[in-house]
Parts: sequence; C-alpha cells; structure tokens
Amino acid sequence: MTDEKELAHQQFSDDLALYALGSLDAASAAKLEQHLGQCGACRKELAGLRGGAAVLALSATGPAAPERSRSRLMAAIAQEKAADAGSESLMLRLRRPWWTLAPVFASLLLALFAIMLWQENESLKDSLAAAHEQQMRLQAHMERIRETIRLLNAPDAAHITLVSTGAKPQPQIKTIYEKKSGRLLLMATNLATLPAGKTYELWLVPAQGAPIPAGLFRPDARGSVALSPSAVPAGSEAKAFAVTIEPESGSSTPTMPIVMMSSAGS
Ligand SMILES: [Zn+2]
Repeated sequence: MTDEKELAHQQFSDDLALYALGSLDAASAAKLEQHLGQCGACRKELAGLRGGAAVLALSATGPAAPERSRSRLMAAIAQEKAADAGSESLMLRLRRPWWTLAPVFASLLLALFAIMLWQENESLKDSLAAAHEQQMRLQAHMERIRETIRLLNAPDAAHITLVSTGAKPQPQIKTIYEKKSGRLLLMATNLATLPAGKTYELWLVPAQGAPIPAGLFRPDARGSVALSPSAVPAGSEAKAFAVTIEPESGSSTPTMPIVMMSSAGS
C-alpha cells in the first residue's frame, strides 16, 4: 500500500462512523463507497460500527472517538438545526430501525436473562433443600454413632454381662467380622488380668495356612474391652478366631497356648 493510499484509508476510516449513522454528506459518501469496494478492512470496520459501535465511537466516553469525525458530526447537527430549526432534529433523523429497536432488544434480552436466572435459582433452591435434608439425616446418624461409641468407651458406665443363673461369670469375647472388607470389631468382658508387659492378640484362623494377626487388645481393670477395631486382609476366610497372650508389641505367629477360641460355625 502506498503512503497516499494509506493516508486515504485513514481518512475513510474516520468517515466510517458518520457513514454508519447515515450522517456523511453525499459527496464524501460516494468517495467512501468507492473505497469500500476496494478495502476489506473498511468493510469489516463498517460492519462493526453498524452493530452499534458508531454511537460509542462518537460519544465523548467512547474508547476511540475520532476527533475529526466528532467535529464533523457537530457541524452536521448545526447545519441540520439551521436548515430545519422547526420540528425534526438530527437525533430523530438518526433513528434507524436498528437504533430504535436496540432498547427493545435489550429489554427482551434482560427479560430472558431474568427468566433464566429465576429458573436456575429455583433449581438451586431445590438442590439446596435436598442437600440440607441429606445433611440433617447424616448429622442425626453421626450423632447416634457418636453416642454409641461414647457409651461403649465411657469409663464410668457399667458393663454388665448376663449369664445363666448360678453360673460364674465367664470370660467372653465378641467379634464382628466383615469378610469382604476384612474389618472387625472386638468387645470383651470378664477377661483375666494380663501379666506385666503382655497383651492379648486376636488371630483369624483360615481354612488353610497360618493364623493371621487380627489385632491387639488389653482389658481395663474390670476385664472389659469396650470396642477394639482392627482389620485383616480383605476377603480372608475365617474358620475360627483365637486369642493368645503375646509380648506387648504383638507377634506375627501365635505363642501357645491358645487361651480362647471361637466354637466352630459361630
Ligand atoms: Zn480502507
């Protein structure tokens, strides 16, 4: 592009805003239209200006107000006033269809957004209510669990085992074992006091192979173990559970004798 052409292009780009508003005088408009036929950049800019940017371009706060165009618009307004001081102002004449409809479109868009926001708000309210309900249920559930555990471990709660009348209280261990997770719980009553430096150790006795260590536990002064959770490898098949007395840190194989053993099938 030569300097002369570049200069012409700049001048035309200044005229584009006026042209978009239909306020460019006929002679300049004819020249601009000729230039538009050859210049893609100007055609693109014009399309943008027709999209509403012309008003911004000419407004005082607009991002790129071409000073020259503004003064030409002012001149056009002054001329218009002089020519037709009576009824119709330039601003009215500028009201092309897109310009008159813009507020309507804006209102429609706002209404649409309002409806969308309202719908979204309603569905959020619904899921919030559901989440709240779920949380209340969980909280109540947690509260029951917490209370059960608290009671199990309360040092001042009485642990009372009922046995057949006339029978002497016997040491008793209850285990709850879930094979698929390998988790287990142990509760015990009336256990014999351990020698110093020793612990009870629970063993899972599989159908085949060596006993699997299933947790250490020590009874309190009353011979009770409130709740002792432990675990073995998930899926371990238990033929029986057994208890031995081991050194404090526990053992990987049971030290004889077996002091307690589950009866087969229980
Ligand atoms: Zn151009």
